[in-house]
Amino acid sequence: LEIPQWRDFTAKVKEIFEDTRKVTEGEVASYIPQLARANPNWFGFSMCTVDGSRCHLGDSKVPFCLQSVSKAFNYAAVSTDVGYEAIHKYVGHEPSGRLFNEICLDSEQKPHNPMINAGAILVTSLIKTKWPMAERFDFIIEKYRKLAGTYPVEFNNATFLSERDTADRNYALAYYMKEHNCFPHNEIMNLREELELYFQLCSLECNCETLAVMAATLANGGINPLTYVRCMSPEACRDALSLMFSCGMYDLSGRFAFQVGLPAKSGVSGAVMVVIPSVLGMCIFSPLLDRTGNSTRGVAFCRNFIKHFSFHNYDHL
Ligand code: GLN
Repeated sequence: LEIPQWRDFTAKVKEIFEDTRKVTEGEVASYIPQLARANPNWFGFSMCTVDGSRCHLGDSKVPFCLQSVSKAFNYAAVSTDVGYEAIHKYVGHEPSGRLFNEICLDSEQKPHNPMINAGAILVTSLIKTKWPMAERFDFIIEKYRKLAGTYPVEFNNATFLSERDTADRNYALAYYMKEHNCFPHNEIMNLREELELYFQLCSLECNCETLAVMAATLANGGINPLTYVRCMSPEACRDALSLMFSCGMYDLSGRFAFQVGLPAKSGVSGAVMVVIPSVLGMCIFSPLLDRTGNSTRGVAFCRNFIKHFSFHNYDHL
């Protein structure tokens, strides 16, 4: 599906973007200094279509860490690598209806889904399980770089160190899962190293322009629209998008699916990645967060966008 009038489309998107600027509610995440120092006025937008057209607005080059947005890519990468069953033997598919970092498992004693911390820590432990840590990190950052094509993906060590130092809840979650035999290699694993890899992936850094291309790669079934390189299997993309649709926006996921009707994933840095399958990927970045941990402007932009363009999953009935 191509977008017929790119110029009209981008002009309208710019209007929506400027209109969304008046949203000033929310708070910048403050649990680590690297996030607390974010400028509350930062506001960026990028989109990239499956045929490679791009549009960037505002602070689209300001770097931010991926935080929970990484959960979607880690899942798709592992799924491409080991397949659907190997993951879902250990992680469910259901929204938890609980906070993203709550200590709870589903009725089968699995984490509810790969988009909340428990599930994401488990998925991280499935990244090239037997390899040395350095090789596992290289494997996954290379995946990210392929997804981003010509755009940069970096690692922010200060964010990583802070994440690791402020992670009591994630340690608690991991030990709780270990207690319940959640991990495939439960007895032999080094939990601390697994968590470090999880924090490292939260600390990958990019900007709106990069993330829009990565989202476009998901929209394009795993083939990067700028380099034509296959990064993910189509099945893994489909599965990741399904889970983003139902679980990608923390405790706002149900309402977001209802109002916007598109797969999305947010992170506490203020990034919201949205995918319009077979059409485009986009990223909105604004560090002001609502009580569910989603960017207020990110969510407002999406609602506004869907009022003007009928991309809601059920718009064409
Ligand atoms: N890195 C943080 C954590 O794992 C926050 C992740 C997020 O964006 N919710 O708790």
